[in-house]
Amino acid sequence: MSPTKEYALLCLENPLLDIQAQGNDELLAKYGLEADNAILAEEKHLGIYEDLLNNYSAKLIAGGGAQNTARGAQYMLPPNSVVYLGGVGDDKYAAILHDAVKQAGLRVEYRVDKKEKTGRCGVVITGHHRSMCTDLGAANHYDLEHLKSPEVWKLVEGATHYFVGGYHLTVCPPAIMALAEEAAKNNKQFVFSLSAPFIPAVFKDALDATAPYWDYVIGNESEALSYAEAHGLETKDIKEIAKHLAALPKANKKRERVAIITQGTDPTVVATNGDVKEYPVHAIDGSQITDTTGAGDAFAAGFTAGLVAGAPLAQCVDQGQWLAKLSIQELGPSFPFPKQTY
Ligand code: ADP
Ligand code: MG
Ligand code: MG
Repeated sequence: MSPTKEYALLCLENPLLDIQAQGNDELLAKYGLEADNAILAEEKHLGIYEDLLNNYSAKLIAGGGAQNTARGAQYMLPPNSVVYLGGVGDDKYAAILHDAVKQAGLRVEYRVDKKEKTGRCGVVITGHHRSMCTDLGAANHYDLEHLKSPEVWKLVEGATHYFVGGYHLTVCPPAIMALAEEAAKNNKQFVFSLSAPFIPAVFKDALDATAPYWDYVIGNESEALSYAEAHGLETKDIKEIAKHLAALPKANKKRERVAIITQGTDPTVVATNGDVKEYPVHAIDGSQITDTTGAGDAFAAGFTAGLVAGAPLAQCVDQGQWLAKLSIQELGPSFPFPKQTY
């Protein structure tokens, strides 16, 4: 792998602690959750965290989509390659996150909120499915002031690649736009994840404002379908949706956009303007899967690590499939130690 600039990759989103347990359909029904969905918690969901801890032997695991991606990218890149930004509280959950990122060699610059709790994500596993319900807490208080503070902005200026998780659109669109504009202005690479079906559906305008800045947009099939529906595309064909995403107007004309849609065990669809290809996943036996939480985050991690290392597009996709395969054999969005190499 070619030498990488220090902190070449800067990631932004919502740091969360996952409270993850094996559940069942009854538990999903109790809180009105759906398998493989991800939602923001409302009042009626807030009991689920204690319920998972007290009645389902839940485990506490570092989570947050882009934070998983940042850990995963650091897993594949040389030391001191990745820095991650987001908001946490000043509590034991934040301490667990600090331990996890330290172990992963990931540098974090958290905005610490003394009044708010670190965000929590309830993860209910049913078979090879997961349902996520997030109470953002302190993550919801991330602000432009933190991003623009001299120490943090210096990291922004030093990075060559930005990765933003779409979940952050519910938190601080001005911070996302600041990174997006910085990327376009300096011909840096801006990678964006659609994150969850509710993002295109409910945060359409904020999402659309970021679209011209996407050099790479990554989503799964349900996010692609939700995008198509929210934008009145008269198709449910993933390839057509990927082509549409790739062809949207672009701010930085020096780079062609690439749209990447993963589909679980089905091939990953990759569209550039006018061209669509499919790449097979790294298949493993169902019995080897521990849980698929964060498969997409891990894919994005391997893919983005490839971009940072200057790998060709086909290899970036394959690195994504490779890292996702490793991650789904671990508990939660984690990666095996001792480290495996691609
Ligand atoms: P998300 O986690 O966002 O729902 P996907 O389910 O599309 O994302 O999974 C992302 C990637 O993870 C896939 O492209 C594939 O590489 C890998 N993956 C997911 N499930 C499996 C599986 N059962 N076997 C092998 N790879 C998988
Ligand atoms: Mg999936
Ligand atoms: Mg995903």
